[in-house]
Amino acid sequence: MQKLDRRSFIQKSGVAALAGGSALIAGCSAENKGEAPAVQSQKKYEWRIVTTWSPHFPVLGEGVDQFAQWVKNMSQGRLSIQVYGANELVPAFESFEAVRQGTAQMSHGAAYYWAGKVPAGQFFSTVPFGMNTQQMNAWLIAGGGMKLWEDLYAPFNLIPFAAGNTGMQMGGWFNKMINSISDIQGLKMRIPGLGSKVINKAGGSGLATPGAEIYTNLERGVIDATEWIGPYHDYLKGFHKIAKYYYYPGWHEPGTVLELAVNKTAFEGLPADLQDIIRAGAARLNAQILAEFDAKNGEYLAKLINENHVNLLKFPDDVLATFKKYSEEVIEELISSNADAAKIYTSYTNFRKQISAWEDITTHAYNEALKG
Ligand code: CA
Repeated sequence: MQKLDRRSFIQKSGVAALAGGSALIAGCSAENKGEAPAVQSQKKYEWRIVTTWSPHFPVLGEGVDQFAQWVKNMSQGRLSIQVYGANELVPAFESFEAVRQGTAQMSHGAAYYWAGKVPAGQFFSTVPFGMNTQQMNAWLIAGGGMKLWEDLYAPFNLIPFAAGNTGMQMGGWFNKMINSISDIQGLKMRIPGLGSKVINKAGGSGLATPGAEIYTNLERGVIDATEWIGPYHDYLKGFHKIAKYYYYPGWHEPGTVLELAVNKTAFEGLPADLQDIIRAGAARLNAQILAEFDAKNGEYLAKLINENHVNLLKFPDDVLATFKKYSEEVIEELISSNADAAKIYTSYTNFRKQISAWEDITTHAYNEALKG
């Protein structure tokens, strides 16, 4: 490619304002001829964000607190967002409805929490044996996924943003070893989303126990097993004190996307610069949350192994293969009964096929080489 000097780069890329002060000033004065933009720029917006997380919940709730601060800083106080944890304004799983109705302008959670209302939305959080975190980000941000997500939420007067990712999760905590698929028979396991349907197919009971009740239920034997997130949050929950075996991988949540949902009317009522500030804040939160999960999970995995001597086990290959087979059936049932899900799944699988071939000769080949 021909190397451009600075002047021609500036001309070609259209960043005329960067070329000198005069261009910048001319641009500004043209913008501010009428009074309306100047008045509008002074207007202050006070918004509310509801979340599905306990107030200041590590990484996730804390991330939303940071997001509100970033937006306030970037907008120089023109957009301030009051953060509400689960149950502070509305119950956790009612935040979708709260934003839709305008009780709050935003929510932070995950699309699979609204599976009862929007079954197809599950593809925008995670599905068992679905795409991993990197693939999901590529599909959403640069592979057409966001457009499908926006179309899906438009009838609800919501605009979605990818705003965080848990990364690959763990398989969960068990009080007996899982040596074959028959060990799932009769097992009562806390597991959300489509993963619970897979456990049901294997003869167990997949239960959607709320986060706050898992520990007590596992301790009292109301449930026999649970998944949660990864080493950091699982450690904070203290599951290593009451369960014997810690299984991997988290086949049911290979890279869960967290969502920021914004009331469409409220968003469209903002000046363009504040809209962009929300986009920028969401993108930063998307990167920030994933980085924190990855960093903390590495640290706490070592802690669980070295200090707490947890029995870390991999699910046997044939158990994973059966989970995979049942997962395909569960997804087939979803897409055959829901036109939106079928349309989204077509994009999802086509994208995945292409990016997986690329990953095979890069990440996978490299990981194999690292093993020596
Ligand atoms: Ca989980």
